[in-house]
Order: sequence, then structure tokens, then C-alpha cells
Amino acid sequence: MTDVPFNDLYAQYKSIQTEIDDAISSVIRSSSFIRGAHVDEFEEKFANKIGAKSCVSCANGTDALYIAMISLGIKAGDEVIVPAMSWISTSETVTQAGGKVVFCDIDPISNTIDTEKLACLVTDRTVGIIPVHLYGHPANMKKIMQIAKSNSLWVIEDCAQAHLAEYEGQIVGTFGNAATFSFYPGKNLGAMGDAGAIITNDIDLAANMAKFARHGGLRKGDHEIEGINSRLDGIQAAILNVKLPHLKDWTDKRRYFAKRYNKLLNRSNTLLLPDEGASAKHVWHIYQIQTNDRDSLQAFLNKRGIQTSINYPCALPFLPCYSERGHTAQMFPNAVSLSHKTLTLPLFPDMTELQHDMVVESIYEWEEK
Ligand SMILES: *Cc1c(COP(=O)(O)O)cnc(C)c1O
Repeated sequence: MTDVPFNDLYAQYKSIQTEIDDAISSVIRSSSFIRGAHVDEFEEKFANKIGAKSCVSCANGTDALYIAMISLGIKAGDEVIVPAMSWISTSETVTQAGGKVVFCDIDPISNTIDTEKLACLVTDRTVGIIPVHLYGHPANMKKIMQIAKSNSLWVIEDCAQAHLAEYEGQIVGTFGNAATFSFYPGKNLGAMGDAGAIITNDIDLAANMAKFARHGGLRKGDHEIEGINSRLDGIQAAILNVKLPHLKDWTDKRRYFAKRYNKLLNRSNTLLLPDEGASAKHVWHIYQIQTNDRDSLQAFLNKRGIQTSINYPCALPFLPCYSERGHTAQMFPNAVSLSHKTLTLPLFPDMTELQHDMVVESIYEWEEK
């Protein structure tokens, strides 16, 4: 039996059930399944929430990366630098768009791209950087933008885990040329299916991205280019419109439970606890600790009915799909170490203090054993 689930999306639904049910039935009543008022409303509200001029919705956060890269004009063989620790979307879309992925190790404190190593990886074939605000912790956007400016590179911020995170008081997604978001159900803002968006302050780029995502033409018969079909559907948009006003409150709850873990687990002598950098507002998409005996702790918690996960058990350069690249552990020591030691504990806005205490107590029990 699971006493503490890793996440509880049903609990979230119960807390806003009437609004969600009404929103879904209003889409059905108006048959606005594709585009329509709910999608327009979400694009406008989400751009406002982040503080960007434009939001182009699409089918998921992976398409968002692909659409942004194509619209920024990536050419065959162009190099794009991405962090060695992320979800595979960040690297696979570079290849899909015709580019060449170049992996960069991460900083061991923020777990985001290491900016000193990043500067050394820029070549005359580099066209862009995709920093990932991993786990909800912002990447060092000041340094990244400096490197990008001095080398004329574009920057796409992968914000899939970082809705409303801030770096030096500025919301992430507003630093680079464009920023991509995922509304996969388990993300900090989640739909009830797949959904994604790209935001930008560049109006021309927004128009090109919208066009590419909609078969290369915004009106029938007007296909200046070939595109793809990547749409946010009406039901998902209506659900996101209900959830968006709750995002700040849910983020505050994540921050509350993360701080509470940091306080209550402080006595542990086997765990490395996550930290929020001085310039960072962390939104805790996940709360991950590191320990040398990760598998034993995970098995112990599992027996206690506490669900955990590993984000991620393998750094990107070592996935089987990149095996021909000949990457070695010495090239990415921090990403490799993280993949061996990281364990994600349950943390979600609707969790109870009782559940939270159970996790903490079980960890101490494991430690004293
Ligand atoms: C979830 C995620 C994505 C992809 O989002 P989907 O909506 O699942 O396609 C991209 N990058 C990162 C870092 C993610 O966590």
C-alpha cells in the first residue's frame, strides 16, 4: 500500500473539481476542440503571467523546443550546447531539428549547466544554448546571456520544470530569445493530457513559430512554408485556464514543503540536501536529495509505503542512443555523480504535514538502522 504517493493529481483535481468539470463541459458545448476561445485566452494569460509579449501554444514541451529551434533557423550540423543532466527532450529535439548536440557538464550545487565549462565548448559552429532550469532551480542566466551575446548565439530556456522560478528577481523564460514550457500532468502547471507552449518577446519569431506549428500557415491556403501539426487542444486549454490562477499558491506550497524538508532533515549525516542559490527563486518541481546509498534508501522507503523516483538514473551523454559518441565519465563528472546519488522524495502542493513527517521519520529510521 502506498501511504505517501510521489504526487497526487487526484487530490489536486478534488480541490478544484467544479471549476474543472464546468470548463470541460463548456468546451464540449461549444465544440471548440481545436483552437477557439479557450486556447486564445490561455495564450494571452500565460504570456502575461510570465511577463512576455507572446505565447505560442503547442502540443507538448518537446514540440515546443523543436518549433523554437526550427524557427530560429537552425541548419544541418549547427552545434547546440545542452546540459548533460535533463530529460531527453532537451537533446533529442536538437537532432530532430538537424543540429548536433554538444553536452556540457552541470554545476554540482544548482545542478544546472556549468557556465565555465559552457564557455569552453563554444566553437565557430555553435549557434545556440539550451539551459534547463532543472528541478525548478534557475540556471545562471546572467553568465549564460553574457556568453551568448559575446558569441552571437541564441538561447532557448527549457522551463518545463520551472514555471515562475526567478533568477535575480527576474522570472525565468524572459532572459533568452524564447522559452519552452511543458504542461504534462505532473509538471508544476499540468494539463490532463499533453500540452506545451513557447513564450518570447520577439514578435516576428512568435509569428514564425505559430505558423510552423500550424502546417506552415495561419489561414487555409496560406502555406508559405511546410510546417507540422502541433496544437494545444481546447479541453486542455480550458483546464489550464482554471489552474493558472492557482499556480502561485501551489508554488508557495512547494516552497513551504521544500524548506520544511531542509529543516527537518538537517540532522542527517548521510544526505546531501538541495539548496536554493542566493540569486535563485527555486520552484521545487522536484525535491531531490543525494546519498551514496541511494538504492538502499529507495527500497527502504518503498517498504514503508513511500513512493520515490530517480531524476534521472542516467545522464544524457550515456543514454544508449548516444553510445557511438564515445563519451567518458571524466567529461561529465558532476552529472554522472548526480545520476548515481540522486533520489526524489514526495513533494506536491496537496501533500499533508503528516505525509511529510512520515517521509522524514522513515529516512531517519533507515539512517539509524
Ligand atoms: C517534461 C520535460 C520536457 C518535455 O515536455 P513534454 O511536454 O513531456 O514533451 C522537456 N524538458 C524538460 C526538462 C522536461 O522536464
